[in-house]
Order: sequence, then structure tokens, then C-alpha cells
Amino acid sequence: MTQFVVTIDGPAGSGKSTVARLLAERIGATFLDTGAMYRAVTWAALQDGVNLADEGQLAGVIDRHVFAFEAAQGDMRAFVDGRDITGWIRAPELTANVRYIASSPAMRARLVEMQRRFAKRHRRVVTEGRDQGTVAFPDAAVKFYLVADVAERARRRQAELEAKGVRADLKELHDAILSRDASDESRTVGPLRPAADAIVIDTTTLSVEQVVERVTEQVEARCSNRDS
Ligand code: C5P
Repeated sequence: MTQFVVTIDGPAGSGKSTVARLLAERIGATFLDTGAMYRAVTWAALQDGVNLADEGQLAGVIDRHVFAFEAAQGDMRAFVDGRDITGWIRAPELTANVRYIASSPAMRARLVEMQRRFAKRHRRVVTEGRDQGTVAFPDAAVKFYLVADVAERARRRQAELEAKGVRADLKELHDAILSRDASDESRTVGPLRPAADAIVIDTTTLSVEQVVERVTEQVEARCSNRDS
């Protein structure tokens, strides 16, 4: 099966999940939320009460449980041992602990395998994360890297949480984003950085619709070049 993969990488709050979802819908592709995979494994590790700083124990978590990810109405749902945990994996306490799995080279290799397995089941995929264009899908048809000012990213996170009825302090969100950026950028395996052939878009002053418009245009242009 010929595969068509679009990767969207970037830091927290750069707009990549929203844009990836909408782009996938527009081009009839399946959305792959790789952050949800890191979050699902972190969820299981917390449930098991393992020492997150111990790579051997983290590997045990992946071996002990069955992780499954299913495309569902423009979204992706995460299952651990058959239980749908999608609603649990965005909690701030969990987010603060994802860095253990994300900074372990052995765990990243397992997660990249999961991502490629998921992608193989679908003909067209829009995947988003930190290392999709650099490590997981280096041969992707089109690669994007979204960036935005940290103040704007914190404001977006606050609005997102408020829409769910959760009040959050802007300064705390700002600091949490900076700390996640630092840990994502500094790891040696799969660090947060644009692929050499990625199209970089600064979304700070753009609406979601404007970003989706730009990425769709680029994808369509690449497709017509490939076809001609
Ligand atoms: O994108 P999301 O906020 O759900 O990702 C949660 C965390 O998972 C990120 O801060 C990052 O540490 C990690 N992650 C990663 N590589 C990916 C996707 C997520 O390291 N491809």
C-alpha cells in the first residue's frame, strides 16, 4: 500500500494537534496523536506505581500491558488492556510525568515502533508530535514545524482549559510550558527540532483557520507536483 504521511511537529501550544486534526479531516487522512501514546504509557506506569526514573521498570510497563490506539471520528482514542483511557491522559499531574518516558531512548524506540505500526494500517496519515519528521517518518511526503511565542502558547492552553471548565493560572502555565520545552529540546534522542526539510510556520498571530489554510495549500501543492 502506498502511504502518504504528513508530519506536524512543534512545541506544546503551537497549535499542532488542532491543525493536524483539521488537516486530516480536509484531506481524508487519519490523525495520529503521538503525544497520546507517551501519555498512555505514563498513565499505565503511574497506575502500576513503578519508579518512573528506572528505565527497566518502564520497559516492564510496556511489556505487561496491551496498548491500543484507534482512529475515531477525526480523533484518536487510547486503550490500555482494553480500557479507554483517553479522558484521563491530559491531566496536568500526568503531563508533568511524561518527561520520564520521553527522555528514555529505549522507550522512545518502542513508541516510534507503535507509531509506525499505527500508520501502516492507514493509507493517509497526518501525525503530530516532536520527532515525527526527524525520526519516526523521515520519508514523509510533507513536513511542518509549528512555532509560537511562549506567552501566546500559555494563553491558548488557558483558553483550552477554561473551555473545559478548568481554571488555570497563566504564570504557572507559562512556566510549565517553558520547562517542557527545555526537557523536549535537550534530550539526545528524538529532541524537539525541525527536520531539515520541514516547512516552519510561526502561528503566533495566525488564527487556526489561517494555519490550516496554509498547510492544506502546501500539501495540495506537493501532491500535484508528485502526481505530475
Ligand atoms: O503533544 P503532547 O502535549 O500530548 O505530548 C506530551 C509530551 O509527550 C511532550 O511534552 C513530549 O515530552 C512527549 N512527546 C514526545 N514525542 C512525541 C510526542 C510527545 O517526546 N512524538
